[in-house]
Amino acid sequence: MAFGAGASRRLGEVNGKYLLRTYGCQMNEHDSERIAGLLEAEGYEPTSNVSDADVVMLNTCCIRENADNKLYAVLGDLKAEKAKRPDMQIAVGGCLAQKDKDIVGERARHVDVVFGTHNVHRAAELLVESREHGQVVEILEAAVDAEHAAFPSALPEKREVDHAAWVTIQIGCDNSCAFCIVPSVRGPEISRRFGDLLTEVEMLARDGVSEITLLGQNVNSYGRDITLKLGAQDEAEADVQIAGALWAEGERRRGRPLFADLLRSVGAVPGIERVRFTSPHPKDMREDTISAMAEVDAVCNHLHYPLQSGSDEILKKMHRGYTAERYLERITQARAGIADLAVSTDIIVGFPGETNADFEATLEVAAAAEYDLAYTFVFSPREGTEAADFTDEFIPKDVTKERMERLRRVIERSAAKKNLERVGRIEEVIIEGPSRKNPGVISGRTRQNKIVHFTGDLRTGSLALVEVTEARSHYLLGEQREVLRGPKTRKKIPVIAG
Ligand code: SF4
Repeated sequence: MAFGAGASRRLGEVNGKYLLRTYGCQMNEHDSERIAGLLEAEGYEPTSNVSDADVVMLNTCCIRENADNKLYAVLGDLKAEKAKRPDMQIAVGGCLAQKDKDIVGERARHVDVVFGTHNVHRAAELLVESREHGQVVEILEAAVDAEHAAFPSALPEKREVDHAAWVTIQIGCDNSCAFCIVPSVRGPEISRRFGDLLTEVEMLARDGVSEITLLGQNVNSYGRDITLKLGAQDEAEADVQIAGALWAEGERRRGRPLFADLLRSVGAVPGIERVRFTSPHPKDMREDTISAMAEVDAVCNHLHYPLQSGSDEILKKMHRGYTAERYLERITQARAGIADLAVSTDIIVGFPGETNADFEATLEVAAAAEYDLAYTFVFSPREGTEAADFTDEFIPKDVTKERMERLRRVIERSAAKKNLERVGRIEEVIIEGPSRKNPGVISGRTRQNKIVHFTGDLRTGSLALVEVTEARSHYLLGEQREVLRGPKTRKKIPVIAG
């Protein structure tokens, strides 16, 4: 029996069960935590069984290849269940729903609710509306208003693990990378108020969270929109809440990003031991960010720095706004300034028109950058992006396959070398839980974002010192040396990721 948002329900009363499947990136996983929080605030309990679910919620992504085919295949499977149990509600949200607008509801009439990326906060209410009025499709073109944009972090939340939390610092993106659908599905960049972010981090710390990951499409431009707006106005007391004390009380009224200030302020919150962020854009990487990373103890020694291509021609065609030389210079500066820094990246192979010489340039930059880790992708066109129209220049599959293999070898070589350098060192790791492959082994994550497997009996969220004994290209093996502390929180509530 479902009551839904706004209906009378006693505190603690169970409303039904929900199954939540998440596709795509961390931003989507974070949105899912908020959706789960909204549903649980309405008295729903999680289930991993479709046959038990009163609500099936699919949080979609359109970045991956064939995302729409995969979604319709899942919806096809759900049709039979819905025929058996017509009261079961199916909701589809996220980027694919935003991009395809009315198409999802039209192609799958058995879907009850379709919502987009700008109204995640309405997920539970829309379920109620559809119970009364039938299928509801609500896709907003943009966040309702910039001041009070519906940031995922402003909503009830349920975290996947207790010791770590994501905090969305901005939504949308003002760039126009030729391969990327994000600006058209997530809209222009809007930064969340500085003071609101700090309040949320302080609350999380009080709740026992020790690790924060700041999320955004282009985190290092965080706050530029805020300060440009405030700089054009007279000084106001609220500036500290909106832009932070470092801006409001420092060099006045200059439009600039606030990301370095944010790293300093979040890193100073008592109880926060680790601060991570993803993703910065190389064209917006500033020295003040590198300084903040170097000077704030809580900021982890890891920089994810998406290269995409090592060819200046291809970078230009992608509208990335930097050259390979400038990119490498920044990595050199970052490594010089930040002790023991690990660097990871994203690289696209076979962007339309990529010649052998362009690809060789990518191999050269990848070798010079000596990455610890790289996420490599073969270009695949996303409908609605500029690059999807470069059909005459698409690269044949056999060529991209061979290029991927060559790139993989370059990356594995540097990753293995970097990991080997850590053998014999004592690493501080936060325990993430038993290893998936071997429950007798536990896995922890180092400050450099490397996974270490070792034998032990520590609970998730504990902090320990582990000596690295062996290295592989994707992980480390170690032996427990000292337990620094147990977990700060006890409960664990899983979110089902698809
Ligand atoms: S910076 Fe480029 S790749 Fe990243 S979200 Fe914006 S448009 Fe997409």
